[in-house]
Amino acid sequence: MKKISIVIPMYYEEEVVNECYIRTKVVLNSLSNYEHEIIFINDGSKDKTLDLLEEIAKEDKNVKVLSFSRNFGHQAAVTAGLKYVTGDCALIIDCDMQDPPELLVDMLRLWEQGNEVIYAKRKSRKGESKFKLLTAKMFYRILNGLSDVDIPKDTGDFRLVDRKVVDTINSMPEHNKFLRGLFSWVGYKQIPIEYERQERFAGKTKYPLKKMLKLASDGIISFSTKPLKIIGGIGFVSIFISIALLIYALISYIFNLNNLTAGWTSIMVAITFFAGVQLVSIWMISEYIARIYDDTKKRPEYIIDKKINIEEE
Ligand code: UDP
Ligand code: MG
Repeated sequence: MKKISIVIPMYYEEEVVNECYIRTKVVLNSLSNYEHEIIFINDGSKDKTLDLLEEIAKEDKNVKVLSFSRNFGHQAAVTAGLKYVTGDCALIIDCDMQDPPELLVDMLRLWEQGNEVIYAKRKSRKGESKFKLLTAKMFYRILNGLSDVDIPKDTGDFRLVDRKVVDTINSMPEHNKFLRGLFSWVGYKQIPIEYERQERFAGKTKYPLKKMLKLASDGIISFSTKPLKIIGGIGFVSIFISIALLIYALISYIFNLNNLTAGWTSIMVAITFFAGVQLVSIWMISEYIARIYDDTKKRPEYIIDKKINIEEE
């Protein structure tokens, strides 16, 4: 019998744990000709999330729990979950029921037809702030403009992937993973499936602006070197402008036009503008270097403090 694995990260989600388990379980039970496992990752929550997961895991041996020593972030949590997948395919899904687990039935059908990555594309998003909708939309467009791989728009991490793809992702040692980008980058047979993103079942988003910016910069920096090329472009333009200014100043001097004191403001503007350009450029380069540094340190991406219902080989 084929086996489905479900990977669900959780961060301060005590209000949704039970609903998430029950709804997911109903779907899995309806797919009676498949075996299943649910891997919950507690990403360092200090509320009742872990206690509730432990209770569930005591009753249901198909539920496995990994608990991190602290908060390592959503991408690290999914990465850890994927390492423990034992099924023939894996569904990555948020726990807040914004991504309906019922979609698994249609996704499985597409998987059985030979598709290896079935990614869920948001047709609409309910109950999210205008700010989030706008920034998300902009992000996917900017990322696509900058990136060398074609990363599908309006697609999160909600997807069903074949065992083969899980193994490929697991073999990648890079840190600061931007999973939805990697899933496109690996290739294989990919197909979208559209859905309506629902409102959060309970609680608030665990992706504040700071985490969104980190995810966005990981996405852009790990999938593109174009920002560096843009810096080069701006550098050339600024050199060109400064040569033009120099010529202008020389001509003024030679022909004694005496108009340069009036140019003080324009010089100040030019100096501050290009100082700004340089600082931004250095910052961009340092973002790349910081990620290289992270990878050379070879520190683990996450630390697992506790495992439940998982036998080690
Ligand atoms: N999450 C996590 N670690 C974090 C932040 C979020 O494991 O540091 C989980 C969270 O519990 C949820 C999923 O990642 O299952 C998506 O988070 P959320 O729903 O808050 O993000 P949004 O849907 O608002 O973008
Ligand atoms: Mg959510």
